[in-house]
Amino acid sequence: MDELFDAIIFATKKHQGQVRKGAKHLPYITHPLAVAQLIVGIGKVNDRDTLTAAILHDTIEDTITTPEEISKLFGEEVLSIVLEVSDNKSLPREVRKKLQVEHAPQLSYPARLIKWGDKIDNCRDILNDPPEDWSLKRLQNYIQWGFDVLAKIRGTNAPLESTFDKLVRKAEKELEFKIKEFGSINERPWAPEK
Ligand code: ZN
Repeated sequence: MDELFDAIIFATKKHQGQVRKGAKHLPYITHPLAVAQLIVGIGKVNDRDTLTAAILHDTIEDTITTPEEISKLFGEEVLSIVLEVSDNKSLPREVRKKLQVEHAPQLSYPARLIKWGDKIDNCRDILNDPPEDWSLKRLQNYIQWGFDVLAKIRGTNAPLESTFDKLVRKAEKELEFKIKEFGSINERPWAPEK
């Protein structure tokens, strides 16, 4: 428990001043908190390192946080999970998105749980609090991309997966489109988002 609260305080400070992309501009920390909440509340997983890594999952990618800080404060296991779910921000966005789909099958079980929680919360935000400047097409593409990443790691946690699937059905109705089940990554159009 201690470690979890330490992680919450650490991540809250690191994400200070950052807001979610949605029009409500909610504090960014609401996102990692929601990911951990999904893993516990829906996924029924109470593993300490998994939940700590869920809280910290965007610190290396999106804040000035070094791997050394995480390993020193939370240990090597937590660091390795956080690194698994961190994109390399020096690559262009479309390359990063493609790599997430390609690398998903190599993720460890804790990292897969975080991926499910991450995509559920992000897709939920796309429906409940969409970024003001995103076109309908871009919102649709985001849901499709989340679906494509998670398609590679099905069989991780049934309750999280059915939560995501319900969300996708809702998105199809509200954003008026149909999810495509691409047979291979090469069939997916990797056009820049507009
Ligand atoms: Zn995230």
